[in-house]
Amino acid sequence: MNLRTETVSTVLFGLGFNVVVPIIPDQAPQHVREGLARQRLLLLTGQCPCGVRLTGPNRAQRRQMARDEHRGIGVWEVTPSHFAGCPATHPDITGETP
Ligand SMILES: [Zn+2]
Repeated sequence: MNLRTETVSTVLFGLGFNVVVPIIPDQAPQHVREGLARQRLLLLTGQCPCGVRLTGPNRAQRRQMARDEHRGIGVWEVTPSHFAGCPATHPDITGETP
């Protein structure tokens, strides 16, 4: 699936972030729409209905972000993973073979 993304501002852990999230295509099947909505929800609120929660950047990551901000932009790379069975993990979205 060829996903488009957009950048949305949010506040997580008391810090402001610009987060790159998937755009939900209007014509996508319901299970894909639900999965993408959950991916957005986790990245924008820090939690998903499947029960997974983002943990904030650790001390070393916060220090690195502060150093990077002095150079113009602080980046915190996170690879969120959802619990098995969450619609966000459907192979139609992840492209993985079931
Ligand atoms: Zn989930």
